[in-house]
Amino acid sequence: MAIPRIRIDQVSKSFGPVQVIKDLSLDIERGEFVSLLGPSGSGKTTLLMLLAGFEQPSAGSILLDGQRIDQLPPHRRAMGVVFQNYALFPHMSVADNVAFPLKMRAMARAEAEAKVKRALDMVQLAAMRDRRPAQLSGGQQQRVALARALVFEPAVVLMDEPLGALDKQLREQMQLDIRALHKRLELTVVFVTHDQSEALTMSDRIAVFNHGLIEQIGSPRDIYDHPRTKFVAEFIGETNLLEGTVKEHGGDGTTIALASDRHLTVPRSEALSPGARVLVSVRPERILLGPPATAVSNRLPTRVLDSVYQGDHLRVQLDEAAFGLVVRLDRRFAEWPAGADVVAHFAPADCWVIAA
Ligand code: ADP
Ligand code: MG
Repeated sequence: MAIPRIRIDQVSKSFGPVQVIKDLSLDIERGEFVSLLGPSGSGKTTLLMLLAGFEQPSAGSILLDGQRIDQLPPHRRAMGVVFQNYALFPHMSVADNVAFPLKMRAMARAEAEAKVKRALDMVQLAAMRDRRPAQLSGGQQQRVALARALVFEPAVVLMDEPLGALDKQLREQMQLDIRALHKRLELTVVFVTHDQSEALTMSDRIAVFNHGLIEQIGSPRDIYDHPRTKFVAEFIGETNLLEGTVKEHGGDGTTIALASDRHLTVPRSEALSPGARVLVSVRPERILLGPPATAVSNRLPTRVLDSVYQGDHLRVQLDEAAFGLVVRLDRRFAEWPAGADVVAHFAPADCWVIAA
């Protein structure tokens, strides 16, 4: 096995009595784009600051290319950082802001100038080099911060919610730009966000944070389709969670008993012990609606409570006979107005079972 670019080995961090990072281990491969995704206060920024060297771990070690770095000062770690609030120097020009990390490393002037030029070209800000940060838009300031993180050709780029302050359109453009830079420069990126769609769009792997622990790590598809806990299922996209009890294993799959004498078939799994309490997660876009006579497995006869047109899809809320399921219908399908009698149905393969 190759040495990982970054190894976080049993790292803990406490502030006074409060343990913010709890015995966390994570390897990040060379060229990987890993997002740290979690709610506010879950420890994402703290872990990034430990990597960058602005905080020291209370226990454990951090290695870059196999070398311990957790006691090194930030400028000796070969990591570029884009902070949440950009942290540009207001009294310096764009070019001087970008040159700052090179100055810290005492690079010769001519060489530094060439690198600054290249970094500014990379983020298309060459024309703005003499402006001060206050004379730039939010998106431009963000790109200055990015150029400053990239200018010394770091092994790793750390970004803390770098797009949080931008409006939706610009944010989505910057997501693509950062992805493209990551690919082109073969960067290893650790990217903090609390926005699940951003994490799904950008990452090779997503580490879902909860209270200073990684609750699950995996590819976007893995995390979305196969969440291991209720927290992950609910945090990544919208889902329906149906409470039930494992009944039996049959030829078609495993039967789960729901309330009101309803049953579901889920993919057969011997790991589910009869009698165990479970939650069945069904994503809104996996559920279909049909007229009351629809004969399929996993059918829940019910009524439409509310139906809202949302442009690219129809969002339908069902009544309690179908446990209040939310359904996201492709708008090319039929309209289902409030009050309509329907059958909600979905394939066993679209059911994902989580321990209750
Ligand atoms: P996130 O970035 O996921 O929102 P943070 O890493 O910023 O979370 O914070 C995690 C927890 O650590 C929070 O409860 C926060 O109040 C606490 N914390 C962060 N930095 C400090 C600090 N310097 N001193 C004390 N508590 C801190
Ligand atoms: Mg934070």
